[in-house]
Amino acid sequence: MKPVIALVGRPNVGKSTLFNRLTKTRDAIVADFAGLTRDRHYGQGRQGKHEYIVIDTGGFEPDASKGIFKEMAKQTRQAVAEADVVLFVVDARDGLSAQDHDIGNYLRRLGKPCVLVANKAEGMKAGAQLAEFYELGLGEVYPVSAAHGQGVRELIELALGPL
Ligand code: GDP
Ligand code: MG
Repeated sequence: MKPVIALVGRPNVGKSTLFNRLTKTRDAIVADFAGLTRDRHYGQGRQGKHEYIVIDTGGFEPDASKGIFKEMAKQTRQAVAEADVVLFVVDARDGLSAQDHDIGNYLRRLGKPCVLVANKAEGMKAGAQLAEFYELGLGEVYPVSAAHGQGVRELIELALGPL
């Protein structure tokens, strides 16, 4: 069985862009509109010796009680349940939001292997700008730029082991 990686995070942090990087396809819907990709979406990828499945998800609203948000939360919970490792994507430029805290709390309670990924970090140094993400209590913050392909190989090493 190939390991399964789930991409989780609030809308617009760059999950679908990262999905495309990890799978080398452009099947996921990438848009400037928050929350457009509402369904789970599967792809396959390979880095070094690792072959893996990636699940892209729509946005995440753990406490929403109805409509599309409830469906999105359900889809994301299912993706997390199916995953061997979760990549929790946050936005290095926007900073930490209440929604990030909700998702972080959910993932921490779950206790599944989780890598905290600060996307849109091109041109940033790991330092002051990323420090606030440690508040999530999920350990190390790993900066990447999905759009520029920076840190993506290393991300797979972190998630799945040496390439
Ligand atoms: P999703 O809603 O989490 O799936 O986010 P998308 O992948 O649709 O991306 C949302 C927006 O962020 C798009 O405008 C992307 O072009 C942009 N984006 C994604 N990755 C990066 C990145 O590494 N750097 C920057 N600056 N923008 C990015
Ligand atoms: Mg998306």
